[in-house]
Amino acid sequence: RKYQKFGLIIGATGIVGNSLAEILPLHDTPGGPWKVYGVARRPRPQWNADYPMEYIQCDITDPEETQSKLSKLQDLTHIFYVTWANCTTEAENCEINGKMFTNVLNAVIPNAPNLQHICLQTGRKHYMGPFEEWGKGIGSHNAPFYEDLPRLNDQPNFYYTLEDILFKEVAKKEGLTWSVHRPGLVLGFSPYSMMNILASLCVYAAICKHEGEPFKFPGTKEAWNSYNDVSDADLIAEHHIWAAVDPIAKNEAFNICNGDVFKWKHFWKILAEQFDVENGGLQEDESRKSLGEMMKDKGPVWDAIVQEKELLTTKLEEVGGWWFVDFVLSIEGTLDIMNKSKEHGFLGFRNSKSSLVSWIDKLKCSKIVP
Ligand code: NAD
Repeated sequence: RKYQKFGLIIGATGIVGNSLAEILPLHDTPGGPWKVYGVARRPRPQWNADYPMEYIQCDITDPEETQSKLSKLQDLTHIFYVTWANCTTEAENCEINGKMFTNVLNAVIPNAPNLQHICLQTGRKHYMGPFEEWGKGIGSHNAPFYEDLPRLNDQPNFYYTLEDILFKEVAKKEGLTWSVHRPGLVLGFSPYSMMNILASLCVYAAICKHEGEPFKFPGTKEAWNSYNDVSDADLIAEHHIWAAVDPIAKNEAFNICNGDVFKWKHFWKILAEQFDVENGGLQEDESRKSLGEMMKDKGPVWDAIVQEKELLTTKLEEVGGWWFVDFVLSIEGTLDIMNKSKEHGFLGFRNSKSSLVSWIDKLKCSKIVP
């Protein structure tokens, strides 16, 4: 097959990396045919074994390994950077994530003469500040967020570190362009994601069903009742690919969300229906427990469900990101504005309710959840 473009996905088993790995090789993907290389830290999982992608197991925190494995990819034209490391403090996040990104760029830029464009995914914390600062009432911009808001310069933020590395490195090579993609909460498929709220909630619902318990909302009244938006992982992948090939999107940062709104109280009902479990709703009294607390001893229960329902083997801690769900469901929803993408010609959108149901279907069909 004669390829037009050669894309490297860093984080190919993650929530957006998986969508890129599925969409890029399709015959009608803009700019194609694409040859796809995908980097991730662990051995290739069974659930993506048939994707037409050259899988490269590589730990990008290791500069030597990254150099030896990625410098060989001399045909690369595009990089899609959809990974991160979750450290204890934001200062560490800046250091480690900065090193990871630098290791990749040092291996690729000097060795891939046809490299044209780098897509960097960051997110809404660009406007809200890092997790550790939320709730302290300092520094966050007021939603709805738009791209021209100034940086929150009174606090460290690894997204700013990554942007600064990107700007510095692309400036060294003539003609090399960039785009930054800022999703909100992502709905997608990946049993290997550090922040997959949907997979986590599906696992929680399956455990409630198995134990005959109601599916209680572990979050706050503010989260239950407020307007929120989400970003479909396939839509984000389409946004990356648009920016990778359309000249109008070069050297710009863009928000990317579905373009509609929802409330958790409505999504909760759908989730309960999908797993045929009693909707326990919002817990307004003192008895409300965090998901982390409710799930702390459920490893053996999940193992039993996996065996009984003949699911793909996963460990509870792989598929359940409780800290992240507890965090998201503790705060009032936030919203993005998609005008800049639309004004630049990206008119993609998703119906969030359909998106929710279709990702649940995909998790079920792939035997990640029952
Ligand atoms: P993810 O956690 O779903 O996936 C990470 C991927 O990177 C996996 O493929 C993993 O194997 C790989 N990886 C991790 N460490 C690696 C290493 N050392 N070497 C090689 N590969 C490694 O990622 P994500 O959630 O798509 O995150 C990408 C960016 O998007 C992050 O900056 C994140 O903050 C942002 N974001 C995520 C969400 C969300 O809901 N998941 C929302 C908004 C923004």
